[in-house]
Amino acid sequence: MDLNPKQQEVREWLARRQAILLAHNYQPGEIQDIADLTGDSLGLSIEAAQTTAAVIVFCGVRFMAETAAILCPDKLVLLPRLDVGCYMADTITAAALRTRKAELPGVPVVTYVNSYAEVKAESDICCTSANAVRVVNSLPEPRVLMVPDRNLALYTARHTSKEVLYWQGCCNIHDNFTRAEAEACKAAHPEAIFMAHPECRPEVLNLAEVIRSTSGMLVYARQSTQSEFIVGTEMGLIHALQKENPDKRFYCPSSCLLCPDMKRISLDDVISALRELQHVIQIPEATRLKALTAVNRMLAVPRD
Ligand code: SF4
Repeated sequence: MDLNPKQQEVREWLARRQAILLAHNYQPGEIQDIADLTGDSLGLSIEAAQTTAAVIVFCGVRFMAETAAILCPDKLVLLPRLDVGCYMADTITAAALRTRKAELPGVPVVTYVNSYAEVKAESDICCTSANAVRVVNSLPEPRVLMVPDRNLALYTARHTSKEVLYWQGCCNIHDNFTRAEAEACKAAHPEAIFMAHPECRPEVLNLAEVIRSTSGMLVYARQSTQSEFIVGTEMGLIHALQKENPDKRFYCPSSCLLCPDMKRISLDDVISALRELQHVIQIPEATRLKALTAVNRMLAVPRD
Protein backbone atom coordinates (compact mmCIF):
# COMPACT_ATOMS: atom_id res chain seq x y z
CA MET A 1 0.00 0.00 0.00
CA ASP A 2 1.31 3.47 -0.88
CA LEU A 3 1.69 5.70 2.15
CA ASN A 4 1.10 9.44 2.02
CA PRO A 5 3.93 11.68 3.37
CA LYS A 6 2.40 11.98 6.86
CA GLN A 7 1.80 8.26 7.12
CA GLN A 8 5.40 7.73 6.03
CA GLU A 9 6.59 10.17 8.70
CA VAL A 10 4.64 8.28 11.39
CA ARG A 11 6.25 5.01 10.33
CA GLU A 12 9.71 6.61 10.45
CA TRP A 13 9.10 7.96 13.96
CA LEU A 14 7.78 4.59 15.09
CA ALA A 15 11.04 2.95 13.94
CA ARG A 16 13.15 5.65 15.61
CA ARG A 17 11.34 5.22 18.95
CA GLN A 18 11.10 1.40 18.78
CA ALA A 19 7.39 1.94 19.11
CA ILE A 20 4.28 0.18 17.88
CA LEU A 21 1.07 1.85 16.82
CA LEU A 22 -2.20 0.34 18.02
CA ALA A 23 -5.43 1.47 16.36
CA HIS A 24 -8.92 0.65 17.51
CA ASN A 25 -11.40 -0.60 14.91
CA TYR A 26 -13.26 2.74 15.10
CA GLN A 27 -10.23 4.89 14.21
CA PRO A 28 -10.03 6.80 10.89
CA GLY A 29 -8.94 4.61 7.97
CA GLU A 30 -5.66 6.49 7.39
CA ILE A 31 -4.59 5.57 10.93
CA GLN A 32 -5.83 1.97 10.80
CA ASP A 33 -3.90 1.51 7.55
CA ILE A 34 -0.48 2.19 9.12
CA ALA A 35 -1.07 0.55 12.51
CA ASP A 36 0.98 -2.43 13.64
CA LEU A 37 -2.12 -3.85 15.26
CA THR A 38 -5.81 -3.09 14.81
CA GLY A 39 -8.63 -4.55 16.84
CA ASP A 40 -10.76 -4.04 19.92
CA SER A 41 -9.35 -2.36 23.00
CA LEU A 42 -8.65 -5.42 25.13
CA GLY A 43 -7.35 -7.53 22.27
CA LEU A 44 -4.92 -4.76 21.30
CA SER A 45 -3.59 -4.44 24.84
CA ILE A 46 -3.14 -8.19 25.25
CA GLU A 47 -1.21 -8.38 21.99
CA ALA A 48 0.84 -5.29 22.86
CA ALA A 49 1.93 -6.87 26.13
CA GLN A 50 3.57 -9.66 24.13
CA THR A 51 5.69 -7.43 21.91
CA THR A 52 9.23 -6.27 22.59
CA ALA A 53 8.41 -2.66 21.69
CA ALA A 54 9.41 -0.13 24.34
CA VAL A 55 6.73 2.39 23.40
CA ILE A 56 3.05 1.93 22.60
CA VAL A 57 1.14 4.67 20.79
CA PHE A 58 -2.55 4.02 21.36
CA CYS A 59 -4.95 5.50 18.84
CA GLY A 60 -8.29 5.14 20.53
CA VAL A 61 -9.85 6.81 23.56
CA ARG A 62 -8.38 7.33 26.99
CA PHE A 63 -9.79 4.27 28.76
CA MET A 64 -8.23 2.08 26.06
CA ALA A 65 -4.78 3.56 26.61
CA GLU A 66 -5.34 2.99 30.32
CA THR A 67 -6.04 -0.69 29.65
CA ALA A 68 -2.73 -0.88 27.78
CA ALA A 69 -0.99 0.77 30.74
CA ILE A 70 -2.62 -1.73 33.12
CA LEU A 71 -1.43 -4.71 31.08
CA CYS A 72 1.96 -3.34 29.97
CA PRO A 73 3.57 -1.66 33.02
CA ASP A 74 7.07 -2.00 31.55
CA LYS A 75 6.20 -0.01 28.42
CA LEU A 76 5.67 3.68 27.80
CA VAL A 77 2.03 4.11 26.74
CA LEU A 78 1.32 7.28 24.76
CA LEU A 79 -2.08 8.73 23.93
CA PRO A 80 -1.69 11.29 21.12
CA ARG A 81 -4.43 13.55 22.55
CA LEU A 82 -5.80 13.88 26.05
CA ASP A 83 -9.24 15.12 24.98
CA VAL A 84 -10.37 11.72 23.67
CA GLY A 85 -13.04 10.82 26.17
CA CYS A 86 -15.90 8.37 26.08
CA TYR A 87 -19.53 9.13 26.83
CA MET A 88 -20.05 5.67 28.29
CA ALA A 89 -16.94 5.63 30.48
CA ASP A 90 -17.95 9.05 31.84
CA THR A 91 -21.30 7.72 33.09
CA ILE A 92 -19.66 6.17 36.15
CA THR A 93 -17.02 7.13 38.71
CA ALA A 94 -15.22 5.02 41.26
CA ALA A 95 -16.92 6.96 44.08
CA ALA A 96 -20.41 6.41 42.64
CA LEU A 97 -19.69 2.71 42.21
CA ARG A 98 -18.47 2.44 45.82
CA THR A 99 -21.78 3.95 46.98
CA ARG A 100 -23.80 1.45 44.93
CA LYS A 101 -21.66 -1.47 46.15
CA ALA A 102 -22.43 -0.49 49.73
CA GLU A 103 -26.13 -0.86 48.92
CA LEU A 104 -25.60 -4.32 47.42
CA PRO A 105 -23.43 -6.36 49.80
CA GLY A 106 -22.41 -9.74 48.37
CA VAL A 107 -23.35 -8.78 44.81
CA PRO A 108 -20.29 -9.00 42.53
CA VAL A 109 -19.56 -6.13 40.18
CA VAL A 110 -18.95 -7.03 36.53
CA THR A 111 -17.37 -4.08 34.74
CA TYR A 112 -17.27 -3.63 31.00
CA VAL A 113 -13.72 -2.93 29.82
CA ASN A 114 -15.02 0.36 28.38
CA SER A 115 -14.37 2.07 31.71
CA TYR A 116 -11.58 3.93 33.47
CA ALA A 117 -8.91 2.18 35.52
CA GLU A 118 -10.31 3.52 38.80
CA VAL A 119 -13.68 1.92 38.06
CA LYS A 120 -12.10 -1.38 37.03
CA ALA A 121 -10.20 -1.27 40.32
CA GLU A 122 -13.51 -1.22 42.23
CA SER A 123 -14.76 -4.30 40.36
CA ASP A 124 -14.75 -8.02 41.02
CA ILE A 125 -14.26 -8.93 37.38
CA CYS A 126 -14.22 -7.30 33.96
CA CYS A 127 -16.01 -8.34 30.79
CA THR A 128 -16.05 -7.46 27.11
CA SER A 129 -19.01 -7.31 24.77
CA ALA A 130 -17.86 -10.70 23.45
CA ASN A 131 -17.62 -12.56 26.76
CA ALA A 132 -20.14 -10.82 29.06
CA VAL A 133 -22.54 -13.78 29.22
CA ARG A 134 -19.71 -16.24 29.87
CA VAL A 135 -18.25 -14.02 32.61
CA VAL A 136 -21.59 -13.59 34.38
CA ASN A 137 -22.30 -17.33 34.18
CA SER A 138 -18.87 -18.10 35.64
CA LEU A 139 -19.73 -16.38 38.92
CA PRO A 140 -21.24 -18.41 41.78
CA GLU A 141 -23.60 -15.65 42.97
CA PRO A 142 -27.20 -15.60 41.70
CA ARG A 143 -27.20 -11.78 41.33
CA VAL A 144 -24.63 -9.52 39.67
CA LEU A 145 -24.28 -5.79 39.07
CA MET A 146 -23.12 -4.92 35.55
CA VAL A 147 -21.62 -1.48 34.88
CA PRO A 148 -21.63 0.87 33.11
CA ASP A 149 -23.53 -0.17 29.95
CA ARG A 150 -27.25 -0.74 30.48
CA ASN A 151 -27.72 -2.23 27.00
CA LEU A 152 -24.93 -4.79 27.43
CA ALA A 153 -26.46 -5.73 30.80
CA LEU A 154 -29.94 -6.13 29.30
CA TYR A 155 -28.50 -8.27 26.50
CA THR A 156 -26.63 -10.41 29.04
CA ALA A 157 -29.76 -10.78 31.17
CA ARG A 158 -31.52 -12.40 28.22
CA HIS A 159 -28.84 -15.08 28.03
CA THR A 160 -28.33 -16.02 31.66
CA SER A 161 -30.52 -17.37 34.44
CA LYS A 162 -28.92 -14.94 36.89
CA GLU A 163 -30.48 -11.69 37.99
CA VAL A 164 -28.59 -8.86 36.31
CA LEU A 165 -28.72 -5.45 37.97
CA TYR A 166 -27.48 -2.64 35.82
CA TRP A 167 -26.10 0.87 35.83
CA GLN A 168 -27.87 3.59 33.86
CA GLY A 169 -24.96 4.17 31.48
CA CYS A 170 -24.73 3.65 27.77
CA CYS A 171 -22.73 4.47 24.67
CA ASN A 172 -24.69 7.36 23.20
CA ILE A 173 -23.46 6.44 19.72
CA HIS A 174 -25.07 2.99 19.83
CA ASP A 175 -27.99 4.05 22.01
CA ASN A 176 -29.08 6.76 19.54
CA PHE A 177 -29.33 4.23 16.70
CA THR A 178 -33.06 3.59 16.41
CA ARG A 179 -35.23 0.65 15.51
CA ALA A 180 -36.77 2.75 12.70
CA GLU A 181 -33.31 3.33 11.17
CA ALA A 182 -32.53 -0.38 11.37
CA GLU A 183 -35.88 -1.24 9.75
CA ALA A 184 -35.32 1.30 6.96
CA CYS A 185 -31.86 -0.09 6.19
CA LYS A 186 -33.14 -3.66 6.20
CA ALA A 187 -35.93 -2.65 3.80
CA ALA A 188 -33.38 -0.96 1.50
CA HIS A 189 -31.08 -4.01 1.58
CA PRO A 190 -33.34 -7.04 2.03
CA GLU A 191 -30.55 -9.53 1.24
CA ALA A 192 -28.15 -8.10 3.81
CA ILE A 193 -27.34 -9.75 7.15
CA PHE A 194 -27.90 -7.28 9.97
CA MET A 195 -25.00 -7.47 12.46
CA ALA A 196 -25.54 -5.46 15.66
CA HIS A 197 -23.33 -4.67 18.64
CA PRO A 198 -24.65 -5.50 22.15
CA GLU A 199 -24.31 -1.80 23.04
CA CYS A 200 -27.40 -1.19 20.84
CA ARG A 201 -30.84 -0.92 22.39
CA PRO A 202 -32.83 -4.15 22.89
CA GLU A 203 -35.44 -3.18 20.26
CA VAL A 204 -32.61 -2.83 17.72
CA LEU A 205 -30.99 -6.10 18.75
CA ASN A 206 -34.38 -7.79 18.24
CA LEU A 207 -34.03 -7.05 14.51
CA ALA A 208 -30.48 -8.37 14.18
CA GLU A 209 -29.58 -11.70 12.61
CA VAL A 210 -26.19 -11.59 14.30
CA ILE A 211 -25.18 -9.93 17.60
CA ARG A 212 -21.40 -9.61 17.93
CA SER A 213 -18.54 -7.51 19.28
CA THR A 214 -16.48 -5.64 16.67
CA SER A 215 -13.97 -8.50 16.51
CA GLY A 216 -16.86 -10.95 16.26
CA MET A 217 -18.31 -9.03 13.31
CA LEU A 218 -14.95 -9.18 11.51
CA VAL A 219 -14.81 -12.96 11.99
CA TYR A 220 -18.45 -13.42 10.99
CA ALA A 221 -18.14 -11.37 7.79
CA ARG A 222 -14.90 -13.15 6.87
CA GLN A 223 -16.42 -16.60 7.27
CA SER A 224 -19.88 -15.89 5.90
CA THR A 225 -20.91 -16.91 2.41
CA GLN A 226 -23.29 -13.92 2.33
CA SER A 227 -22.19 -10.87 0.37
CA GLU A 228 -24.09 -7.98 2.00
CA PHE A 229 -24.10 -6.81 5.61
CA ILE A 230 -25.67 -4.02 7.63
CA VAL A 231 -23.12 -2.94 10.25
CA GLY A 232 -24.81 -1.94 13.50
CA THR A 233 -21.82 -0.39 15.23
CA GLU A 234 -19.55 2.64 14.91
CA MET A 235 -18.94 3.23 11.20
CA GLY A 236 -15.14 3.05 11.48
CA LEU A 237 -15.43 -0.74 11.51
CA ILE A 238 -16.60 -0.65 7.90
CA HIS A 239 -13.07 0.34 6.82
CA ALA A 240 -11.63 -2.90 8.22
CA LEU A 241 -14.56 -4.99 7.00
CA GLN A 242 -14.28 -3.62 3.48
CA LYS A 243 -10.51 -4.00 3.41
CA GLU A 244 -10.72 -7.66 4.46
CA ASN A 245 -13.65 -8.42 2.21
CA PRO A 246 -13.32 -6.35 -0.98
CA ASP A 247 -15.98 -8.36 -2.80
CA LYS A 248 -18.62 -7.92 -0.07
CA ARG A 249 -20.77 -4.87 0.63
CA PHE A 250 -21.26 -3.21 4.00
CA TYR A 251 -23.94 -0.65 4.84
CA CYS A 252 -24.05 1.86 7.68
CA PRO A 253 -27.65 2.08 8.91
CA SER A 254 -27.47 5.42 10.78
CA SER A 255 -25.52 8.66 10.64
CA CYS A 256 -25.53 8.54 14.47
CA LEU A 257 -23.01 5.71 14.38
CA LEU A 258 -20.01 8.01 14.35
CA CYS A 259 -18.05 8.59 17.55
CA PRO A 260 -16.39 12.04 17.47
CA ASP A 261 -13.92 11.04 20.17
CA MET A 262 -12.75 8.14 18.03
CA LYS A 263 -12.09 10.46 15.10
CA ARG A 264 -10.19 13.17 16.97
CA ILE A 265 -6.63 11.83 16.67
CA SER A 266 -4.89 12.94 13.45
CA LEU A 267 -1.64 11.82 11.87
CA ASP A 268 -0.12 15.14 13.06
CA ASP A 269 -1.10 14.22 16.62
CA VAL A 270 0.60 10.84 16.26
CA ILE A 271 3.78 12.48 14.92
CA SER A 272 3.79 14.96 17.85
CA ALA A 273 3.22 12.12 20.32
CA LEU A 274 6.26 10.26 19.00
CA ARG A 275 8.46 13.34 18.67
CA GLU A 276 7.67 14.68 22.18
CA LEU A 277 6.92 11.31 23.82
CA GLN A 278 3.56 12.60 24.97
CA HIS A 279 1.01 12.09 26.54
CA VAL A 280 2.22 9.39 28.90
CA ILE A 281 -0.60 7.38 30.49
CA GLN A 282 0.26 6.46 34.05
CA ILE A 283 -1.95 4.63 36.51
CA PRO A 284 -1.16 4.76 40.25
CA GLU A 285 0.31 1.34 41.07
CA ALA A 286 -2.30 0.42 43.71
CA THR A 287 -5.10 1.19 41.25
CA ARG A 288 -3.31 -0.62 38.44
CA LEU A 289 -2.89 -3.79 40.47
CA LYS A 290 -6.55 -3.86 41.53
CA ALA A 291 -7.72 -3.19 37.97
CA LEU A 292 -5.32 -5.86 36.69
CA THR A 293 -6.83 -8.39 39.10
CA ALA A 294 -10.31 -7.72 37.66
CA VAL A 295 -9.00 -8.04 34.10
CA ASN A 296 -7.05 -11.22 34.89
CA ARG A 297 -10.10 -12.83 36.52
CA MET A 298 -11.94 -12.26 33.27
CA LEU A 299 -9.08 -13.72 31.23
CA ALA A 300 -9.13 -16.82 33.46
CA VAL A 301 -12.78 -17.59 32.67
CA PRO A 302 -12.73 -20.71 30.49
CA ARG A 303 -13.88 -20.36 26.90
CA ASP A 304 -16.90 -22.41 25.88
S1 SF4 B 1 -18.20 4.45 20.47
FE1 SF4 B 1 -19.24 4.70 22.44
S2 SF4 B 1 -18.14 3.35 23.87
FE2 SF4 B 1 -16.82 3.65 22.06
S3 SF4 B 1 -15.53 5.41 22.60
FE3 SF4 B 1 -17.29 6.25 21.48
S4 SF4 B 1 -18.75 6.78 23.14
FE4 SF4 B 1 -17.23 5.39 24.05
